[in-house]
Amino acid sequence: VKESGRNNISFYDPQMQIEILQRKQMESDLEHAIINDEFSLFYQAQVSNNNGVIGAEALLRWFHPKQGIIYPDNFIPQLEETGLIIPVGEKILHDGCQKLQLWANIPEFSQLTLSINVSAVQLLHEGFSDYIKQLVARFEIKPGRLKLEITESIFIENIDATIAVMNELANYGVLFSLDDFGTGFSSLCYLKSLPLAQLKIDKSFVKDLLEDESDIAISKTIVNLANSLKFNVIAEGVESAEQQALLQQIGCNNYQGYYFHRPAEAHEFEAFTLDYNSH
Ligand code: C2E
Ligand code: CA
Ligand code: CA
Ligand code: CA
Repeated sequence: VKESGRNNISFYDPQMQIEILQRKQMESDLEHAIINDEFSLFYQAQVSNNNGVIGAEALLRWFHPKQGIIYPDNFIPQLEETGLIIPVGEKILHDGCQKLQLWANIPEFSQLTLSINVSAVQLLHEGFSDYIKQLVARFEIKPGRLKLEITESIFIENIDATIAVMNELANYGVLFSLDDFGTGFSSLCYLKSLPLAQLKIDKSFVKDLLEDESDIAISKTIVNLANSLKFNVIAEGVESAEQQALLQQIGCNNYQGYYFHRPAEAHEFEAFTLDYNSH
């Protein structure tokens, strides 16, 4: 095995050994994190031109006892590979629905929606829709306050099963938003067969919006597409007043981004909402 060519993996490759060990360490860290309850949700405001703060996106954070806050891009892939995304995903949905119950009883928050990211592995896991329905019933929330954010990657495998689960939940009243639209495996023909409520303009299109004609064209196209399909549209990654103004000009009236609010603990998001909506 030592004499390995370019495409062969040598058993004694020290780099490989290190990677295998790191992977194992990560998996055991993640298992500990679940047991020690180190995962929790941050909330980022979603703002509309006419109605102020209309909701939030829940974003997962890992509060590591030694390393501090770890961001999801650094561990979601491992959660998915190990299947640990199922228990973690259930905790996220549980905490999110519990938060919606709390908001429902406070007039200033009772109309807020909460967007929760769900990956393909979760959606296709047996019992996903039942789990959601149970939470909605248990916390006595309006299903329409809950918005599930999916990405196009969800359609790479098992499109029919995915659509079936989405239809079941959409009929129940849960909303769906298509995140990262136009950045991956897009197929326009799925759009009309999906029970979507919203398209999200990805932050990669918003980033250089002011300088890049093609980003403007793409964003316009997404807005027009959303309008014709009767979906709502929101732009993420809005970092400046100029970006907001341009988005508004092309017909996008809902925004999420650092210009408005950075993801934060629930109480901070709630204080921001009270303040923003009182002006
Ligand atoms: P995403 O769903 O596209 O979430 C948007 C990301 O953009 C978030 O990063 C957010 O903090 C960041 N962001 C918000 N406003 C701005 C802005 O104005 N400028 C820039 N440059 N970035 C902004 P975050 O929180 O690190 O999450 C990264 C990704 O991890 C998410 O991308 C999502 O795919 C995934 N993720 C986060 N939470 C969850 C979760 O609970 N479950 C699952 N399955 N995935 C999650
Ligand atoms: Ca998202
Ligand atoms: Ca996105
Ligand atoms: Ca993303």
